[in-house]
Amino acid sequence: MRTRAAIFRTPGTELEVCEVELEEPRGEEVLIRMHVVGICGSDLHVIRGEWPRPTPMVLGHEGAGTVEAVGDSVTGLHVGDKVVVSWAPACGDCDACRNGHVTACTTLRTAIGAGTMLDGRTGLSLDGKPLYRMTTVGALADHTLVPSQCALKLPVEMALDQAALLGCAALTGVGAVLNAGQVAVGANVVVIGAGGVGQFIIQGARLAGASRIIAVDPQSSRREVALTLGATDAMSPEEFSSAENPLLPNGADYAFEAVGTAHTAALALQSVRNGGKAILVGMPAIGTKVEIDPFEFISREKVLTGSIYGSQEPARALPRLVDYVRAGRLQLESLLGPTFTLTQVNDAIETSLDGASGRVLVKLGGVDS
Ligand SMILES: [Zn+2]
Ligand SMILES: [Zn+2]
Repeated sequence: MRTRAAIFRTPGTELEVCEVELEEPRGEEVLIRMHVVGICGSDLHVIRGEWPRPTPMVLGHEGAGTVEAVGDSVTGLHVGDKVVVSWAPACGDCDACRNGHVTACTTLRTAIGAGTMLDGRTGLSLDGKPLYRMTTVGALADHTLVPSQCALKLPVEMALDQAALLGCAALTGVGAVLNAGQVAVGANVVVIGAGGVGQFIIQGARLAGASRIIAVDPQSSRREVALTLGATDAMSPEEFSSAENPLLPNGADYAFEAVGTAHTAALALQSVRNGGKAILVGMPAIGTKVEIDPFEFISREKVLTGSIYGSQEPARALPRLVDYVRAGRLQLESLLGPTFTLTQVNDAIETSLDGASGRVLVKLGGVDS
C-alpha cells in the first residue's frame, strides 16, 4: 500500500515528506493508522548525526493510532482498536531476554542499529529501494506496520494525543523509577532534566511515595511544570550545584539523569548519598564518556545503573500506566506541547530542538480524539 512518511536522509538536511510503499500485515503483524507522534530526544540524536543510522529512514517511535488491518495470526486486536506503539519488541530468546532484561534484548539492539524490524525486514520501500525505520517502528507516517507485541491496546476513552506520550516518555520515565530505581517510600529523589522523560520520572517518584523530589533544569518553564507534577523543589543546575544549596546536605537517596550528557551523568552520581543510587535514563550521543572517581565511588558505596525504556516488558508496564491515568494520578495533558501536521514536520523538529517545554506533537491523518 502507499502511505505518506517523513524521510530522514542525512544530518543537516530537512526531512522530506513523500509517498512510500508499505507492506500489508502478515502473520502476527498489525497495520496502524497513526494519529499522533511525539518528537523524542532519540529522534533528535539521529537528526543531529549523533546516532549513525542507515538511510533513508522514517523517523518517529512515540505514537498512538488505530488498528487498520491485522495479519492472519493476530489475536486480541481488531480493526478500530486504539493502540499505542511500543518500540521495543523482544525476541524472548537471547541472553538478555532470558535474564529478564527484555528492553535490552540483543536482537532488538541489532534491529535498531540496522533500521529494521526484529526479523530483519523493513516492510518499507521508496522508489523500489529499501527504506529503513527508526527504532524498529518509523512512526512519522500516516501508517506503520509493527508486530502485534508492539501494538498495545488502549481503553476506548483514552485521547490519542495524550496516549502518544505513554509510548516512549511515560514508559521510560515512570518505569525507570518503579523498576530500575525501585524508589522506596519516603525517599528523597533528584531528577536532573525536566524535559519529556524527566517530567515522567518526577511523576514516577511521586507515585512511588518519595517525600522530597528535586527537579533540576535550566529552563524556568520546565521547572514550573515540574512543581505541578509532584516536584517539591525546583532549581537551576547552578543553584543545585552551589555550595550554599541547603537541600540534601548528605546527598540524595536516588538521582535520575534525564538529559544525556557526560556532565549531567557525573552530576547524578555526585548527587547521591553514601550508598545512594544513580540511574542514567537520558540517552547520550554515541561515544559519550563519563568520568568516574572510583575511589569516591567505592568508598562511598554508591550504585550506578542504566535504564532503557522503563526496564520492563512494555505490554506489562502499559496497563499500570493506564490505571494511573484513569485514577488521575498520572498527568499527560499538561505535558502536551505545540502540535504540527506531517507537512510541517520540520517546524516540529525545529521547535523540539529549541527545547519546547511540552512534548512537540505531529498529527497524522487519523481519527478524532
Ligand atoms: Zn523516545
Ligand atoms: Zn531478546
